[in-house]
Amino acid sequence: MSTQQLFNNYIIPSVGRMPLSFVEGKGSWLTEESGRKYLDMYPGWGVNIVGHCHPEVVNAIQKQAAKLLHAPNNYLLPLQGQLAEKIIERSFPGKVFFSNSGAEANEGALKIARKWGKDKGKWKFITMLDSFHGRTLGALSATGQENYRKDFEPLIPGFSYVPFGDISAIKELLDDETCAIMIEPIQGEGGVNVAPGNYFQELREICDEKNCLLIFDEVQTGVARTGEWFGYQLYNVQPDIMTLAKALGGGVPIGAIVAAENVADVLQPGSHASTYGGNPLVCAAGLAVISVIDEENGLEKARQVGKSLKLKAEQLKQKFNVIRDVRGAGAMLGIELDVPGKSVVGNCLADNVLINCTHERVIRFLTSAFISENEIETAFNSLQNALSKI
Ligand SMILES: *Cc1c(COP(=O)(O)O)cnc(C)c1O
Repeated sequence: MSTQQLFNNYIIPSVGRMPLSFVEGKGSWLTEESGRKYLDMYPGWGVNIVGHCHPEVVNAIQKQAAKLLHAPNNYLLPLQGQLAEKIIERSFPGKVFFSNSGAEANEGALKIARKWGKDKGKWKFITMLDSFHGRTLGALSATGQENYRKDFEPLIPGFSYVPFGDISAIKELLDDETCAIMIEPIQGEGGVNVAPGNYFQELREICDEKNCLLIFDEVQTGVARTGEWFGYQLYNVQPDIMTLAKALGGGVPIGAIVAAENVADVLQPGSHASTYGGNPLVCAAGLAVISVIDEENGLEKARQVGKSLKLKAEQLKQKFNVIRDVRGAGAMLGIELDVPGKSVVGNCLADNVLINCTHERVIRFLTSAFISENEIETAFNSLQNALSKI
């Protein structure tokens, strides 16, 4: 049976899938079953910040797999402790809980906020319109997009949504019962939206004033994506809780909640756990990803990639009226079109270039920090062709 037939027969069709079946990856390239190679401008949907199958990450996983794959969390796991230390050294004083995915990290963050607020009468959340926090019921409740939520209602009570970047909307809603505001430093799935001016500073001030937690969902912006270790560092505004996943494992399933000192001990034994969370295999991968970013100048490389992507996108904007806006940071760039981007994705695919379109009209690049100038050039030539066909 072909892979397509296997999927037709046996896989629940919850995800829109392109008829491409990949079996190998290296750097910014993927190879199909047929042997056809594709240039990948969003490797792993934001997961592979160090590219597909980085040799150091592969090596760390292979070595660890032969040593100890899994041991449960009622013991001390050395690699888990070491990875937590690396994350804290690069972020802010606090403690880490490891989960298996972004949605699950967000679930835990919401639980911390609820438990923290319990004896204060605080239980409500404010999140953003066009946000994306994951597909589990709690994360979905936080996601400010009606189309993702509507078929699963009633969801968790207590969530309200305001426009991203609008401080006055938050001032209006925030009351003594609000336990947390949850927000992405740059909205990813919602269209690579960047907040104006000192929005995040004001947000931090309001949260301090009203004694409300500030949660940054850094599942997409974290771990070198924006050219900083974490997206909040672009704004110099420290959250009380930050969640990570995607790039952290370089391709293995891992998520993390990073809780600042004021909330680091809210969850006590018995209040939260995960069977797989932070097991030896995934932590070995996470440690390797961080070490590769350190040793190969990943942050600087992501910034350089960002400059190049932005420059080329701005040049296209001069040529094509259909481009409305160009925005992003580091290896995360959005090109907003006046029209749906589906045909652009299709035309690039015909050139063996994989690009992503999110929020219907925003072409999104989430490249490896180590993509070469030549590869970027190839992708933009294809994009230019595609745009000229609109
Ligand atoms: C991808 C994403 C999630 C969900 O992560 P999963 O690992 O798919 O559960 C949550 N928040 C943001 C900002 C994301 O980009």
